[in-house]
Order: sequence, then structure tokens, then C-alpha cells
Amino acid sequence: MKKLNKIFYDNEWRISSSNKYFKSNTFNSKKIFYYPECNKLDIQRTILSAKRGFKYNKKLNLIERKKFIFKIYNQIKKNYKKIAKVESLETGKNISDAEKEILHSANIWLFAFKSLKNNNSKLKLSKQHNGHIIYEPVGIVSLIIPWNFPFVVLSERLPFILGSGNSVIIKPSEFASQSMIYFMNIIKKINFPIGIINLITGSGPKVGSYLTKNKDINMVSFTGSTKVGKKIIRNTSKNIKRLSLELGGKNSIIVLADADLDKTINILINSFTGNAGQSCVSTSRLLVDIKIKEKLIKKLINRLTKIKNFKKIYGFISTRFQYNFIKKSIQNNNRYNNNIIYGQENFKHKNFISPIIFKDLPQNHIFNKKELFGPILSINSFENENQAINISNSTKYGLSAVICSRDKKKSFKIAERLNSGRIWINESVKINYPSLPIGGYKESGFNRESGTEGFRTYSEIKSIIYNKN
Ligand code: NAD
Repeated sequence: MKKLNKIFYDNEWRISSSNKYFKSNTFNSKKIFYYPECNKLDIQRTILSAKRGFKYNKKLNLIERKKFIFKIYNQIKKNYKKIAKVESLETGKNISDAEKEILHSANIWLFAFKSLKNNNSKLKLSKQHNGHIIYEPVGIVSLIIPWNFPFVVLSERLPFILGSGNSVIIKPSEFASQSMIYFMNIIKKINFPIGIINLITGSGPKVGSYLTKNKDINMVSFTGSTKVGKKIIRNTSKNIKRLSLELGGKNSIIVLADADLDKTINILINSFTGNAGQSCVSTSRLLVDIKIKEKLIKKLINRLTKIKNFKKIYGFISTRFQYNFIKKSIQNNNRYNNNIIYGQENFKHKNFISPIIFKDLPQNHIFNKKELFGPILSINSFENENQAINISNSTKYGLSAVICSRDKKKSFKIAERLNSGRIWINESVKINYPSLPIGGYKESGFNRESGTEGFRTYSEIKSIIYNKN
């Protein structure tokens, strides 16, 4: 097995001084990879590089930054099949999904290129005073990435970090570093200015944690579980680092009585089983108007039983931890087995879980409250929209929601009252556009990524009052 004994800083692949490696493979990896478990010395060297990079990027003008963002976009687009291939080899994602994800990622870079502009402004405050609002970079950003959509998560953040004038240290997930290694080769190839983009590998509790504590890091951009997000809040509180947190969710799909049921079934199945339910925006709670509940359930089961190649379409559970966590959660709650209306026969394969659907679990049941990160759906009904909104808002999370209805006005009114960062109306959670900011309410995190707000997230804003007299 080929070991990658290098990490990337000062625009070069450098030998890690740790001489320790970890194995990266998921249940579904077609190849095993090894990466350095970096030590403190490696991280410190990388931080020194990022310091140099920050000084350089801060001085670049917007046209120069735009030029680099465009170059990266071009390279991703040109190499999208190769990036998708390595992502698929390591994570086991099917190749066509991986290709779509990399092309979507390229589009985010293109959007950032097009929308990067000078946001500084001047205001007349009074006869005596003028005001100036100035956007500045934050500094060195630690960018910590999860395993489920590695290249997409990278691309939703990095162009905005760079465009705002920062430097970055990327820490990929232990399960999914390969597409980022490929990305660093692109950075090297296009002679990106030294030190602006750096990459270090290693475990979350060691390398990730250090990157959230070190005093020279100015900001942490973290995407991952709420549990780790809370640790990061604690670590970064010591010197009040800037933070952007995109965390977990327990998202709902609300179906009103007037919804087009055939379309709704497609949206529903895509939204709870896509990527085997291992997507932060997956909708794991169905809230349906009581008047159409049984009709909808019948149609849903009917459709599911007709799908023969679930494995191919919706993919596999990625990690042993994830599989065991779902299995244990279901088995520990076996007194609710009578509430299972689909997927009773399960856990026969090491990496595949067929959709499991529960009906009428109590509202405070763990499956209505906790993120399971698998193709699990819990169905409850409501009698009026107020009740639907209250149930939807009743978890500690607030990441996403779907509304299905033919009534546009009513759907928007509901959307306004949901505590969720992203809402789809008559569409599945698979559809995304780079111009829309993403992020969560409550324990799903704070700050926003992508869209023009993405630049705001990675900027400090300074106000100046100028006395004209
Ligand atoms: P995770 O929290 O286990 O790990 C995420 C990253 O954090 C990894 O790189 C890991 O090495 C690192 N890490 C772990 N412990 C750390 C620590 N103490 N300090 C610093 N870094 C540490 O999450 P995961 O299992 O990789 O991903 C699944 C989770 O991510 C789910 O909860 C999902 O909802 C969430 N997620 C959220 C979004 C979003 O945009 N809101 C997107 C994708 C995934």
C-alpha cells in the first residue's frame, strides 16, 4: 500500500516529522490509503506557512484574488472526473454521484469568482462626520471537513475564505482526504502564492483539536457533528476566535393536504434516503396532514417496494461507527418495533441498511429528536399548520426543512415560521445553488457559508468616523 508521507505547506509537499500513519478506509472504499498522523511540529510549521500566506493574500487586490479563484475553478472543471474518481475510490460513493458533486463544487468556485467585489462603503453621517465601513480579512482559518461530502464542503467555504484575503489550513476527515490531496496538487501546479492554502492530516481529537486551540489561528470553520462543534466552541473560547459552525440536523418534511402526492413521494424518498441518509440536510421526520396520512403512507410503501436497486441508487452506510450506531439505536428501542411499517428485516449486510420507517412514535422519542444519519424516517401527523410548525421547530436543531403543497402563499407563510436555515418548497434536498447561503439555527450551528454572505463570514468589519472640521 502506498503511503503518503507528506503534508502540504509553503506550496510544497513536505515530509511529516511524525513518522506515524493512519489508515483511511470506509466500509465501501475500493482502495486503502495511508496518511501522516501529524504531530505538533508539523502543525507549527504549517501555521508558520499560513502566517506568510496571510501576509501575502491580505495585500493582493481583488483582481488578483479573482484571477486565482478562476484558475482553481478552471482546474476543477478540467479535472472533475479525476477528482471524482479518487473521492469515489476512498469513500465508496458511486462515481456518477461523485462527478455531480465535483461539478457542483466547480460552480461554487465560479460563483465566488463572479460575485467577489469590494464591499467597502462611505456614508454621510452628519454635517460634521463621514463614516467608512471597511471589510478586512480575519487571518488564518482552520478549515475542518467531514467525510460525507468532502469536496463540496471544501468548495462551499474555501473560495470565500480566499476571496476575503485569508490564509487557510485544511484538515480533512480521517475517512476522506484523497480529493483534497488531489486539490493540493492543483494548487501546486498553478503556482498559487506560497502559504495561502495548506493541508495537514490526522485525527480530530489530536490534529483537529490543536488547530482549534493554537493562539495563532484566528478563525475556525467547522463542518461536522454538533457534539464536536460544542468542543470547538469550548476550545476557541480561550482567545475568542471567530467561528463558523455547520452542524447536525433533525430535519422535517411537512406535507399539506393539498400536496401533489406523486411528486411528494419522489421528494420524500430522495430527501430521506439520498446518500443513505448521511447528509446533514436529510429529512428524517415526515409531518403529514392527518387527512391524507394513510393515503400517503400507502403510496410511499408501494413505491419503496418497487425499487429494486436501492443499493445502487441510494448508496451505502459509510463507516463502521455509523452502521453500529444506527443498528444499536434501532435495537435498543425494540419495544417500538410495532411502530415499524417498513424495513423490519434489516442489518443483514455490513454496509447497507434498507430504509426503515416508523409511524406514530411519541413526539419526545429519540427518533424524533436525535440525528441518526441513516435512511430512517419517523412519520407523525398534524391537524393544522400551527401544530406542524410547532412540531417541526421542537428539536434542538434547525438546519433544513421541506414543505410540499400546491398553495404557494401558505407554503411561504410556513417557511417564514420555521427555525431552519434552508427550506425547499416542492423540491428535494438534493437541489442546491451556489448563490444561496447555507447554515443553521440553534444547535445546527451559526454563520453562513456560500452565497455573497460567504465573504461576510470570513471578514472582519471595521467602522471609521471621520470628523471633517
Ligand atoms: P465529526 O464531527 O465526527 O467530524 C468532522 C471533522 O471534525 C473531522 O475532520 C474530524 O476529524 C474533526 N474532529 C473530530 N473531533 C475533533 C475535535 N475534538 N476537534 C477538532 N476537530 C475534530 O463529523 P463527521 O462524522 O465527519 O460528519 C457527520 C456530521 O457532520 C453529521 O452530524 C452531519 O450532520 C454533519 N454535517 C453538517 C453539515 C452542514 O453543513 N451543517 C454538512 C456535512 C455534515
